[in-house]
Amino acid sequence: MSYNFGVKKGEKVKKYDLLIVGAGLFGLTIAQRAAEEGFSPLVIDKRPHIGGNAYSYFDKDTGIEIHKYGAHLFHTKNEKVWEYVNRFSSFTNYRHHVFTLHEGRIYPMPINLGTINQYYSAAMSPKEAEDLVESKTEGAAKDAKNLEERAVALIGRDLYEAFIRDYTYKQWQTDPRQLPASIFTRLPIRFNYDSTYFSDPYQGQPKEGYCALFGAMIEDPKIEVRLECDYFEDKSLPKGLPTVYTGPLDRYFGYRFGILGWRTIDFKEKRYDLKSFQGCSVLNKSDLSDPSTRSIEFKAFNPERKEVFESQKTVVWDEYSRFAGQGDEPYYPIGTEEDKEILAKYLDAEKGEKNVIFGGRLGEYAYYNMDQTIASALETFKKKVLPMLKDGRK
Ligand code: FAD
Ligand code: UDP
Repeated sequence: MSYNFGVKKGEKVKKYDLLIVGAGLFGLTIAQRAAEEGFSPLVIDKRPHIGGNAYSYFDKDTGIEIHKYGAHLFHTKNEKVWEYVNRFSSFTNYRHHVFTLHEGRIYPMPINLGTINQYYSAAMSPKEAEDLVESKTEGAAKDAKNLEERAVALIGRDLYEAFIRDYTYKQWQTDPRQLPASIFTRLPIRFNYDSTYFSDPYQGQPKEGYCALFGAMIEDPKIEVRLECDYFEDKSLPKGLPTVYTGPLDRYFGYRFGILGWRTIDFKEKRYDLKSFQGCSVLNKSDLSDPSTRSIEFKAFNPERKEVFESQKTVVWDEYSRFAGQGDEPYYPIGTEEDKEILAKYLDAEKGEKNVIFGGRLGEYAYYNMDQTIASALETFKKKVLPMLKDGRK
């Protein structure tokens, strides 16, 4: 993999058409498309690597691919995005399965007929289970004003309290009654024994790892990447370039309307001389008695890497979620009513920034999965960045 890391001594200084702040999936997609259209982008990132939060590396001791900022699983309904990523990497046929620990028992997740029958110690048919759950629901999902109302309307109070309420509280450090209902839409409930986590038709992990995928996206020599380069601190950056900014939106405006709420995650690593520690890639913990939200056993994402998978070594990370303070990595936008009011002010302020386009999870304060990030970047490129670049060439 070779990509261009900066101008070497004595080399003629290149003219850039575009500055991209952030080498996450949004920034890399914009860079790839810009180069493909004949433009020369400069991509900067304050971190020492590309890939943003989806970055992974191969652990030297075990050969296991570790996702540095938390487990990443690629899944999408969007055929265009699937075709796009497949230009840069082939994908494994990994299908994600999650289990959850509740009061000393392990249940399949998302909630399906197996979970329901196990929880009620029953052998209900799909129709019987649906009727039972229906009898325990309260209100209509479409009218739900918060996550709790949505969940109780969809799965009833018992299942909500067992598998959702405390997990959600641990994950968001926020009462589920203060969280947007939309977070719960992400998790399906099934009245059959299908326990695959995602319902999307296209799923898998990049065969050679996430970083090989990211590297392939920016192989074009017209793309230059500068790492450990902070947009707000590096005085050597070229001035006045059209810019795509994918850093935190509130930071861009000096926090003038307030700080947007984020969650971050702390990881605690454990290593074992075992073929497998927990028998699955992700084990959620749904009770408050265990402060960790879930444990990730990384090798289980790649069972096709036989040698590593079969070896008697494994790496497990326990995740602990908390509010992000200044200096923490912002991972998940919280989106309380107060956040929404602050966001509206920043979105208004963006209109005054004629030469800057804001995008990505941090730049839009949006709960995007990787596929949504790519879809948004492709759309933003077509509708906003390309016209801006063409204008600049006139
Ligand atoms: P980021 O990846 O955050 O990239 C932004 C980049 O901007 C960062 O590298 C940052 O260092 C850089 N930057 C910020 N400020 C500056 C500055 N001042 N100067 C220079 N650079 C700057 N998606 C899925 O599809 N499946 C999953 O399983 C999944 N799991 C996830 C798990 C976790 C814990 C998290 C946090 C996210 C997960 N996602 C998942 C979402 C996925 O990570 C995002 O959709 C994607 O990474 C967003 O890309 P981005 O480019 O918008 O932002
Ligand atoms: N969730 C839950 N219990 C679980 C798994 C998920 O309550 O065992 C809820 C929780 O509110 C979470 C949301 O469903 O924020 C979305 O879950 P997902 O696994 O999609 O979240 P992510 O991978 O983004 O952390």
